[in-house]
Amino acid sequence: MSKCLICKTEIAPFMSFGKMPIANGFLPPEQFKDEPFFKLDAAFCDNCKMAQLTELVDRDKMFHENYAFYSSTSAGMAEHFKEFAKLVKSSYLPKKKPFVVEIGSNDGILLRHFASAAINYLGIEPSANVAKAAGDNGINTVCEFFEEKSAARIAAEHGKADAFLGANVMCHIPYIHSVLNGIDALLKPEGVVIFEDPYLGDILEKTSYDQIYDEHAFYFAARSVSYLFERHGFELADVMPQDVHGGSMRYVLARKGTRKVSDAVPALLKKEEALGIGRPDTYERFRTNVEASRTELVKLLKEMQQAKKSVAGYAATSKSTTVLNYCGIGPDLVEYISDTTPIKQGKYSPGMHIPIRPYDDFKEKYPDYALLFGWNHAREIMEKERDFRRAGGKWIVYVPRVQVL
Ligand SMILES: [Zn+2]
Repeated sequence: MSKCLICKTEIAPFMSFGKMPIANGFLPPEQFKDEPFFKLDAAFCDNCKMAQLTELVDRDKMFHENYAFYSSTSAGMAEHFKEFAKLVKSSYLPKKKPFVVEIGSNDGILLRHFASAAINYLGIEPSANVAKAAGDNGINTVCEFFEEKSAARIAAEHGKADAFLGANVMCHIPYIHSVLNGIDALLKPEGVVIFEDPYLGDILEKTSYDQIYDEHAFYFAARSVSYLFERHGFELADVMPQDVHGGSMRYVLARKGTRKVSDAVPALLKKEEALGIGRPDTYERFRTNVEASRTELVKLLKEMQQAKKSVAGYAATSKSTTVLNYCGIGPDLVEYISDTTPIKQGKYSPGMHIPIRPYDDFKEKYPDYALLFGWNHAREIMEKERDFRRAGGKWIVYVPRVQVL
């Protein structure tokens, strides 16, 4: 039995995805023999209602000088972060000398909007290569993990913050109580925490099981976030659904009683109740849906193989690692994966070792079918790849269900 990372209650997995490599661990052939694997099991805590992983990968194996994810690669995400910054500036910062801190600030995609508005800010990013990219763009970034210890030092050096921001970061951190203690030390009494992460409600509704991978220790919902922060003296003041990463939720938290709680909070909690987010049988049903999705996707790819149709993967996402390894999809079914990120090109996908090729290879000779691993950017990608469709190419997607488009 494992213990809940939040409340220490004993928990058992509701499903196992089996042996899994590091999701972002794209690698050259000489490293195949030393490739690290762990067991990807997901559990739900019936006490504090947090969905989470039971076996965790050492953080230094995931976030390091070769971290393969740069935020600033999608035009849609750039726009999203511009809007995020605008909201923070207009609704959550005091007029006088505000100070904003962002955790996991990556290459500075959000913070640059504070930099350009001459607002005092600081980025904290543990992956050296993306932190350097931020530094090269003139974004103030310290390269380290944020936790209780570093928070006290940052507060002493830079002063206390008015807003603590995070996008697709908080759900990565198993030692989240230390982060919340850190936030408590760093934030001014009236300060706010605003963060967003993939939303558990969307994962359950869309059977988007590819959101479950090593970096995501938690799968948040309003109910579990509220429980977690209450333990640290904060309350959930607002929630805002976001149409990114396949369905995310933005949470606004403040010290209890310092901010009016929006009507959106009880409304979402009620919706989660109806969806069964707090009940174990919901996760049993999710597992059945995931198993059915796997069966259908493998059947479809085997039919393509028999019909001698070429299939290439589109976008070597972290999420694709769960799908490929859980379904057992290798280079016999998907010839290669096209990706625009230079650090991944020429390497192989984690675990199943499908070659990652530059985008030009896809463009020069279209496959018959493209398996869309970046399904959360489907609209942007399909718009960009109209020539692929005109040339007779078809898309395979697997969220919310397996289908050919
Ligand atoms: Zn718990």
